[in-house]
Order: sequence, then C-alpha cells, then structure tokens
Amino acid sequence: MLENLVDFDAAALPGTTIKAVSMEYYQVPLAEVLSDAKHGDHTHFELIVCRITCKDGLEGVGYTYTGGKGGRAIWSLLEHDLKPLLLGADAGRIFSLWEDMQYHLHYVGRGGLVSFAISSVDIALWDLRCKKLEQPLWKVAGGAGNSTRCYAGGIDLNFPVEKLQANVAGYLARGFNAVKIKVGKPDYKEDVARVQAVRDTIGKDTVFMVDANYSLTVEQAIRFSRAIENQDITWFEEPTIPDDYEGYAQIADATSIPLAMGENLHTIYEFEYAIAQAKLGFLQPDASNIGGITGWLKVAHQAHAANLPVCSHGMHELHVSLMASQPHAGYLEVHSFPIDQYTTRPIVLRDGLAVAPDTPGTGVEFDEQLLGPHRIHLK
Ligand SMILES: [Mg+2]
Repeated sequence: MLENLVDFDAAALPGTTIKAVSMEYYQVPLAEVLSDAKHGDHTHFELIVCRITCKDGLEGVGYTYTGGKGGRAIWSLLEHDLKPLLLGADAGRIFSLWEDMQYHLHYVGRGGLVSFAISSVDIALWDLRCKKLEQPLWKVAGGAGNSTRCYAGGIDLNFPVEKLQANVAGYLARGFNAVKIKVGKPDYKEDVARVQAVRDTIGKDTVFMVDANYSLTVEQAIRFSRAIENQDITWFEEPTIPDDYEGYAQIADATSIPLAMGENLHTIYEFEYAIAQAKLGFLQPDASNIGGITGWLKVAHQAHAANLPVCSHGMHELHVSLMASQPHAGYLEVHSFPIDQYTTRPIVLRDGLAVAPDTPGTGVEFDEQLLGPHRIHLK
C-alpha cells in the first residue's frame, strides 16, 4: 500500500504549480459548555482553513482545528513560514512537500503547533490530488470501502448522571450503536457509577468506550479499570499522560480492557515508540495534528504492520473517508466538535455505519453562510 502511494507521488500531476496560498481563522462557539478531565471547559473550537490554488485555477482546501487555544499561532506559522516555502512548488509532490515542511520547522517545533500547520497544508494538497483525479478521498487513500464503523464521542464529564444518560440515549436515537463517555472524576467511584448508569441505558449490545483524557496516575487507572471490567468496555482511552509509554504497558498488563491513544501523539515517531512500548489495543491518529492525510496514512501503515486497528480522533467529516479506505479500520470517532455542521455535508449514517462522500476531493466543503460569521481576520 505504501509503495502505491510513493508511486503516486512520483507521478506528478500536470498544472499543479502552487500559485497562491491563503489562510482563514475562525472561532466557532459550541452550543453548550463541554468538559473533560484535563482540558477543563470547552466553550468554542478554532478552525484554521488553508486554501491552495494552482496555476490552472484548481483550489484545494485543508484545515486543522483546536480545542480553543493556539489557533492564531498555527495561522502565523502558515502565513509567515510555510506559505513562502509552498509558493511555486509542485502540489502533486505531496510526500516530498510533507518532508520539506517537517524539516523547514523541525528545530522550533518537532510535533506540536507545527504539526497542526503542516496538517492543514497536507489536507489541501490531498484535496487537490483527488480533484485532479476526479476521485473521492476514500478511493484515492486506499479504496477498501466507502463506509466505516463509528461511535459518538461525548465530552460530558460535567453532565449530571441523568443528563449523561439522556445524552447517550440521544446518540442511539440518531442511529449510533457505539458510544464513548468521559471519565476522570476526583472520586473514581463516581466514574464507576456513571459507567454503570450508561451501560444500563444503552443495553448490553451497544459498543461502549471510556476516555480519561490522560488525567489519572497509573495506579488510579489500574484501580478504575479493574472496577469496570464487568461492563464490557471496548477500550480505555488515554488513562494517563501520553508520554508514559511504560505506564500504559503497566495498565495494560494489570487489566483486561484494551488501551487506546493517539490524539496527543503528533509525530509518526511517537507512534512508533508507543506501538513498541505501550501495549495499546487501538491507535487513534488525528489528521489535523499528525501531519494531515499523509501523516494519518503513515500511522495507518504502522498500525497494520503491528496488527492493530487504526481509529481516528476528531474531524469526522474528513476521517470518515480515511477510515473507510483502510481494511484494518476500527471505529471512527464522531466528535462533539461539530465541524461537519459547518460543511455542505454533515455526517451521514446508514445502518450504524458512517458513509464517506463520493464527491471528488476530500468531500469537506465549508458552507460560507454558516461559517463566515465566525471568522476573525488576522494580520
Ligand atoms: Mg480522547
């Protein structure tokens, strides 16, 4: 599969010299305050959109998002550091540009904000590639299929139990058959009770995951995990800090619930070490911060070689196509930041599966009417 992509890169597409690069910055309010254990309250998310226009007039659109902080610095990296590198380059040479962007900014930001900025460019380049080929992303990225298993990921640690139950019931009513809730209350017994309450609400056949947003110590994570082993939990996400690979391995050894992480691993090398050391059951790269579609696919190949399912975090309107394209896909996260509600095609569910768009390109087209009012002009 990787060889096919390399061949792709070598076969540069005609007319793809980059003529213009422009960025937009948005702050999009959430309908209500959403909280998790480590990031606290979310009131809005940031969206940084990157538009790349080629000499032949074709435009590719990429983007990244944040939980509400750092977006202006990402915009600045794009405007001042990546734009000059991209102008005049061949947009068809995606792998080479990915490498060039990595080392252009490597010294000041291996991973981190730089990886978010590169992601938005890379997604725009893939959008251009797919449009040139007149193919949807799910076919160009691998073509395994056009739909994927998915789950609704709540950011709901601040919800009282009754509201939590009503919220997951709402997910089932919308057609989901898999749900995830946040955990990480100061007293783990409260988390245990919330897990029990949700399991009672969704019934025994609904797939159920929990996510601590790296808020627990290894000891706390082991104690909590053992206490919910009887609830048929598909994975325990980010039990402790993402840097403690050995701690993850200790938790994995001590409990029967598989571990998941990836949203806070922002280089492919971090994934390499995590796979080797952390005894993970699921990998969750996010194309908005792992270096775009190129980075996400590289992690998908790492997962395949390690015999692990690849999953996703956030931006489900894009990941639906990537997940559908891979034969070893696990579950697409349908995230609580509703970016898809500001596009022309909000997420489509069919028989509990998320369906990828068939339009040429990434299939993510922002609706100017809906998104425009949230734009903030930066200089
Ligand atoms: Mg998470």
